Amino acid sequence: MKYVSTRNKNVFLSASETIAQGLADDGGLLTPEVFPKLTPEMLEDLRGKTYAQRAVAVMKLFLDNFSEEELTSFTEAGYASTKFDDPKVAPLHPLNDDTYCLELWHGPTSAFKDMALQILPHLLSASLVKNNEKKTVCILVATSGDTGKAALEGFKDVKGTKILVFYPKDGVSKVQALQMQTQEGGNVGVCAVHGNFDDAQTGVKTLFSDERLRDDLAKRGYFLSSANSINWGRILPQLVYYISAYCDLLNLGKIQMGEKVNYCVPTGNFGNILACWYAGQMGLPVGKLICASNSNNVLTDFLATGTYDRNRPFHTTMSPSMDILVSSNLERLLFALSGQDDKLVADYMQQLNKHGGYTVSDEIKAKLKSDFYGGFCSEEETGKVIAEVWKKYNYLIDPHTAVAYDVMEKYRRETGDTNKTVFVSTASPFKFCDSVLHSLGVAEVQDGIDALDQLSQTTNRPAPVPLASLRNKAVRFTESVDKEKMEDVVLEMLK
Ligand SMILES: *Cc1c(COP(=O)(O)O)cnc(C)c1O
Repeated sequence: MKYVSTRNKNVFLSASETIAQGLADDGGLLTPEVFPKLTPEMLEDLRGKTYAQRAVAVMKLFLDNFSEEELTSFTEAGYASTKFDDPKVAPLHPLNDDTYCLELWHGPTSAFKDMALQILPHLLSASLVKNNEKKTVCILVATSGDTGKAALEGFKDVKGTKILVFYPKDGVSKVQALQMQTQEGGNVGVCAVHGNFDDAQTGVKTLFSDERLRDDLAKRGYFLSSANSINWGRILPQLVYYISAYCDLLNLGKIQMGEKVNYCVPTGNFGNILACWYAGQMGLPVGKLICASNSNNVLTDFLATGTYDRNRPFHTTMSPSMDILVSSNLERLLFALSGQDDKLVADYMQQLNKHGGYTVSDEIKAKLKSDFYGGFCSEEETGKVIAEVWKKYNYLIDPHTAVAYDVMEKYRRETGDTNKTVFVSTASPFKFCDSVLHSLGVAEVQDGIDALDQLSQTTNRPAPVPLASLRNKAVRFTESVDKEKMEDVVLEMLK
């Protein structure tokens, strides 16, 4: 199978080159040229398999220069019971006969980023060997919270790799900071940056584009790479859980083979929902794809009007991992919906860069409307939904998941669609204790990690072990630097 750039379809890369490279040289996103078919017979076969086996079966369709043995060892390590606290890895929680919550936060960092970041490091490490790369890769990450910790856990002690994470000193929650400061592993580094997320991200981008630094590191035997969600190795493992959820619904006797199921996904960078759309392209019977946004509702407007416009106020919300105005992975959808018109996509992206927006053709707009529904959930509604779902179903959800639930219900009320619906839960409620406690009506919320115990006591639910045990972990990383000094941190780690 060949991979092409969304801005130039005459670029042809193998699977391992695609994963090692991350982004195309022209700035486009590397994407499979064709999508393999998922037949009802294959789905039938997947029904009897474990999650790790399902992942091998799906991923091998795309990664043709990896062996089945390799993929089996990656998924057995990544989705091991020492890493995931549920044997089903991505279990479905039924709310009623029509509504199922797909829980994607049973991994080591309690957010859905683990689903891909437990696999990507293995794919990358093997890709470097396949590509005859002799240097060691150093993954640089700027994080607003979830990605940094998930990447650290994923890359921890993976051979041929190092990882260095920068987070904004005043931009992450106490629990998130502590998760990173206590990170274990011999190949990891963590450093706070004075400023906000933008400062950290700009700093990392500057490091990536610094040729002098690149040469210096090459002499030391290193090269820099990124682990963000534009890498195909992060999208591919995400196709698996949509297919897996369908198998589970079949096994529960809730649907017939071929029956359409709607999926509702809380969306930021558009990676997670894109994976579901790709699964539908392969042949998974996907009904409507419901794209749920918070008050940063640029995607809701785009799906309604065909015009993408990032020129708008930025809102800081209870669901911070969705506080995004430019959803990078949308580029891959536009490439597919335009019939792989690379020139058109390059033109849209140039307009986005220059003017902050673009308007798609009527043809693309019609396709968007037939596959997607977009909606958003305000801050006030997010809080209400957390309380409502707790009261009605005795089920605790985090603010990102609440956004998905709210938009799913809006869609149903608006359309009367009665398909069975899976809504996606992207984080454990214990990662966002403050917001959840406030939403449940608790007036005095305790500080930092004490809020974990408070939420646990209030709801009589245990906190995930990796979060509960943070209290007893040694703090390893306390350094903080100005943005201008980030290079020194890199050089110190890679000396
Ligand atoms: C990253 C993240 C999202 C957004 O996912 P995208 O793939 O960027 O659309 C939603 N919820 C949580 C908790 C996340 O960490």
